Amino acid sequence: MIVEAVAVRRPEGPGALVLTPPPTLSCEMARALSVWFDTALVPLARGAFGTELTQLRVGGGHECRRRNRQTQTPMSEHATGRALDIFAFQLGEERQGGPVVSVEKPDGLVQSRFVDAARQSACGAFMTVLGPGADAAHANHLHVDIQQRRAKSSRFCQ
Ligand SMILES: [Zn+2]
Repeated sequence: MIVEAVAVRRPEGPGALVLTPPPTLSCEMARALSVWFDTALVPLARGAFGTELTQLRVGGGHECRRRNRQTQTPMSEHATGRALDIFAFQLGEERQGGPVVSVEKPDGLVQSRFVDAARQSACGAFMTVLGPGADAAHANHLHVDIQQRRAKSSRFCQ
């Protein structure tokens, strides 16, 4: 399904986190994301910036459709809607100049720490988490997916 926004709790009540552009996600992935957003990512952003995380700039599933964009490697989880690439985090209202935190180039210590914390929290919520430093294909985004691995202990976090 195409997911335009995911429900999250705000201090003032129910709210939504917008995904731009809307990615195609499996139901299972949408559920995993909604739990992570609501229990980890949105509260982390509130703690770091004192403002609400309103929007994620995401990959529509084309960025690493084949792992690392090589043609011989197996189709990645993007092909099945079980993965998402996150490029940036929009805080507050974009029109009012709310800051955007880039995964590739966080601006300053607070933003860097937020991106690190977001990545760490994703490791508990997804089977695979890849980002800058993992390999060249993930230098500018955070890749999360729910690919089933043989054992829980084989979660992959880089
Ligand atoms: Zn990806």
